[in-house]
Amino acid sequence: MDKIRHSLRANVKLMKSEITRYALFGTIIAFAALILATALNAYLQSGGITIQAMIEAQKTNVTLWFMDAMPFIFAFWGQYTSTIMAYEASSMVMEQTANLRDRTVELEHKAVHEATHDALTGLPNRALLYDRLNHAIQIASRRKTGLVMMVLNLDGFKQINDTLGHYSGDQLLCQVVSRLEIMIRKSDTLARIGGDEFAILLDMSTHREMVLNIVKKLQKIFMEPFSIDGLDIEVMSSIGISSFPDHGMDADTIMQRASLALVNAKQSTQKFALYDKEMDKSSPKRITMMGELRNAIDAGELMVYYQPKINLDQTRVSNLEALVRWQHPQHGFLPPDEFIPLAERTGLIRPLTNWVLNTALKQGEQWRKKGLKMGVAVNLSPASFLDTELPNVIVGMLSLYDLPAKYITLEVTEGSMIKDPDLALNILSKLAALGIKVSIDDFGTGYSSLAYLKKLPAKELKIDKSFVLDMLESDSDAVIVKSIIDLGHNLSMKVVAEGVENKETAVKLKTLGCDILQGFYFAKPMNHDDLIQWLDENSSSASQLL
Ligand code: C2E
Ligand code: CA
Ligand code: CA
Repeated sequence: MDKIRHSLRANVKLMKSEITRYALFGTIIAFAALILATALNAYLQSGGITIQAMIEAQKTNVTLWFMDAMPFIFAFWGQYTSTIMAYEASSMVMEQTANLRDRTVELEHKAVHEATHDALTGLPNRALLYDRLNHAIQIASRRKTGLVMMVLNLDGFKQINDTLGHYSGDQLLCQVVSRLEIMIRKSDTLARIGGDEFAILLDMSTHREMVLNIVKKLQKIFMEPFSIDGLDIEVMSSIGISSFPDHGMDADTIMQRASLALVNAKQSTQKFALYDKEMDKSSPKRITMMGELRNAIDAGELMVYYQPKINLDQTRVSNLEALVRWQHPQHGFLPPDEFIPLAERTGLIRPLTNWVLNTALKQGEQWRKKGLKMGVAVNLSPASFLDTELPNVIVGMLSLYDLPAKYITLEVTEGSMIKDPDLALNILSKLAALGIKVSIDDFGTGYSSLAYLKKLPAKELKIDKSFVLDMLESDSDAVIVKSIIDLGHNLSMKVVAEGVENKETAVKLKTLGCDILQGFYFAKPMNHDDLIQWLDENSSSASQLL
């Protein structure tokens, strides 16, 4: 600024000197005209041009007196106008310079904004997110507080883009952002870090309950369909979570771990996952396991475990839940959470479900021989559940083993219906019409509306074990359990509580009117041999454990 002022002052000086030069020429011309006029006057008066004659002419001719003033007038006028013009010009230049400077600052801001923000949504991009994350880490470590990083990804976005076009895809992204923006606080950062991937940096401690609360709120915004060109589109999201300082001390590690958690979230039924160091170990293992799972069924490495469901009305075991396991030659005994998501992604879930169904029906012959009329409940993944062939497959199996349809219960989660509620309702109705029992699993964790729930031909509602496990300590969980029991009964369904680990919980559930209990307190899932032995000892007396 000083530089500009200095050069302006120099320019003003230059302009003034230019104008003064022209004023000087004017003064010289005026002097020359004066001398010429005086000489001419002297000649006319005395017939010659002498100094004496010129002085005489000056004394006597009044017109020459006016001419005498001319050089002074020129000099003064020159000085005056030069000053005025120079200052006018300088203020004009000053004004233009200020405009130019404002525009430069504006352009600089625009360039910085474009380099750090996403053009479509206007959200911070990955670069700015890293910058903010680094800054937040510094502050949090100084204050000894925490940070939470959530990476959110839309399920099936590519499909929407491919079928409806990129313009609709963009519209969807903008609508998602509008909903997310309403939810987050001013102090949090929402960024777009990929096509359909968003990051949310939360300035908060990593208290599990608080994190879960936010996850619930985030999942809630996807409950309502998005309206794109008059079409209602259901979109689900997956969320991976990591935190500072628990999962990393620098931005790279925190981001990488949130992304790894996201990969796991995509495969989980809950659709979110908090980073765990086991994920580091299992990610390369998973890739090779995908191929191995194909052979596992034929190689006889899969097994069905059974967990009894205790019917409180009839004081006996009413049903057994079939839970699959994998005895892996290298990795040992694997729980379903480690390979069901793989099966879902590779299309192996249908043969796997059919195998579980078939094995459970076949092994069931042994307890049926003992006169135990217990049915079997099989879990259905979203993919196999939306398989229109499923009713036919089940009918075939029932006739093979000569069993009534009511022998089979299919456990489906609320989440599996959200993807295509109409198709879900259609298939469930077909199954129910055959006489197969439908049970809604993990109830309370999804978002099925009451109107939809009422339409479902389900006979059973299973309260998710997360509520049951904590119902003695947490009043809110106890209230949820009680409400679900009442809700199920009002919809003429039997209510099952799973995750019953101790007597107190079992007694409490009984007083709340729950119909069926399942959990480690009665029996852990067992292989077929252990089950037969357990049934011999407990089949009619299990509820006496209460
Ligand atoms: P789920 O359907 O909710 O099954 C209940 C899970 O809770 C089982 O875990 C069971 O072992 C566990 N559990 C039972 N009682 C208690 C208890 O008192 N306390 C606690 N903490 N847990 C209890 P598991 O066997 O590891 O199965 C996990 C999930 O894997 C199942 O959740 C189900 O969603 C899925 N799954 C299992 N078998 C199959 C299958 O054949 N097909 C499909 N699609 N999914 C399956
Ligand atoms: Ca289940
Ligand atoms: Ca369950």
